[in-house]
Amino acid sequence: MEKTVTGTNVQVGDKMFSLIEELYPICRSITGEGVRKTLNILKKQFPLEVYEVPSGTEVFDWTVPKEWNINDAWIKDTKGNKIIDFQDSNLHVLNYSIPVDRKVTLDELKEHLHTLPEQPDLIPYRTSYYNERWGFCMKHATLESLDEGEYHAFIDSSLEEGSLTYGELYIEGETEEEILISCHVCHPSLCNDNLSGISVATQLAKDLLAGENRYSYRLLFIPGTIGSITWLSQNEEKLRNIKHGLVLSCVGDEGHVHWKKTRKENSEVDRAVARVLEESNDAFELLDFSPYGYDERQFSSPGIRLEVGCFMRSPWGTFPEYHTSADNLDFVHPESLEDSFNKISSVLQLLEDNRTYKNLNPKCEPQLGRRGLYSKTGGQSQQAVDHMAVLWVLNLSDGSNSLLDISERSNIPFNAIRVAADALKEVNLLKEM
Ligand code: ZN
Repeated sequence: MEKTVTGTNVQVGDKMFSLIEELYPICRSITGEGVRKTLNILKKQFPLEVYEVPSGTEVFDWTVPKEWNINDAWIKDTKGNKIIDFQDSNLHVLNYSIPVDRKVTLDELKEHLHTLPEQPDLIPYRTSYYNERWGFCMKHATLESLDEGEYHAFIDSSLEEGSLTYGELYIEGETEEEILISCHVCHPSLCNDNLSGISVATQLAKDLLAGENRYSYRLLFIPGTIGSITWLSQNEEKLRNIKHGLVLSCVGDEGHVHWKKTRKENSEVDRAVARVLEESNDAFELLDFSPYGYDERQFSSPGIRLEVGCFMRSPWGTFPEYHTSADNLDFVHPESLEDSFNKISSVLQLLEDNRTYKNLNPKCEPQLGRRGLYSKTGGQSQQAVDHMAVLWVLNLSDGSNSLLDISERSNIPFNAIRVAADALKEVNLLKEM
C-alpha cells in the first residue's frame, strides 16, 4: 500500500471529519434503516458490498433479531408542550424501544426514563435489544423540572421481521493472506464511539484500493456483537486466511493511542503496533487482552482464534463523554482522526514490508565497499542506507528472523532496517524466505 499522508497535512483529517458530520444525524441501531442509510453513504466513496441476513437466522448461540425502525417520539406535558423530542436528538429514545402511545402519571413515566444524575445536562445512550420494553433518555435536569401530572408518551417505532444489514469490502492483494479491519456501525448520534471508526476505516479502504498490496484486506462495517457473530457464523471458511486484525473504535478524540493486545498478546500485529507507536515518539499505552470490549471479543473467542486487537485513542468507558450526548461533533477532531489514520497506515505498511531473508554470504561479513554499500543512497527509495542497519540485517538474516525481529533487537527504526534489506537484496546478498 502507498501512504498518502504525512506530517501536518490536515486534508485527510478534514475529509474524515466531513463524513462524520454527514453520518451524525442518522439514528442507527443493530438493525434497520439507519444502518442501511449509513452503508449507502459509504458506498458512494468505495465499492462496499451490503448484505442482509433475515431475522430469525441462527448464528452460533444467537438469533438475528427482529428489525427495528423509528419515525418519531416525544413526551408531552398536560399543556401539550413537548418536554423531549426525538427530532432534537435520537438519543432521547431507548434504542430498540417498542412503540407506545399512552397517557401516564409522572411516577409511571419515571419507570421508563433514563438519566445521568452525575452529569445532569447530558442525555445518556441506552439500548434494550433483547428485552422488549419502551423508554426514553433525557437530561437529569429536565427530569428534575417536571411537575406532577399526566404525561403523553409517544414512540412511533416498529419491531418486525426484517434483516440485519452489514457491509463488507474485500481487496485482493498478491497473496491470499488477509488483514481484517472491523468497525461497528450500530450507534446513533455518537461521534467518537463509533463514527470515528467508520470514517477512519473508510479512508483506509480508499487508500488501500488506490495502492498495490501484498496482503489482501477485508473491511467489515458491522453492528456490534450480533454483527460480528453473524458474520463469523456465515463466513467460517474465510477465517483461515486472516492473519492479522484490527478493530477500530474511539479514534477521533484528543487522547493518546491505546492498543488492546490480541488474545495471544505477542502476535505480529501486536508487535507491529508497538513498534510504530514507539517510533512515533508520541505518548501511547498497550493494554492487556481481556474478553470484554468491542468485536475483538468475538474474533478472539477460543473457537475462532483470530489475532485481532483493538486500536483506540481514549478507551471506551474511560472518558466522561462516553455513551452520552457529549460524544458529539465537538468531541472529535480532524487532527486526531488523521493521526489515527497515519498510525494505522504505518502499522499496515510495516506488516506489508515485514519479510524474512537469508544472507547469501553468511561466512564472515561480505565486502560492502566493493558493492557500493558504504554511505550509499539506497535503491529507488532515495533514503540513505544506515550502516549499522546493514550489519544487523546481514547478521540476523539466517532465515529465522523477520525484519521486525531485527528492528526490535537492534532498536533501529523499522524503515531503516527495511531500506538496508532492500539495498542488500539489490546486490544479491539477501534472498527472501
Ligand atoms: Zn458503544
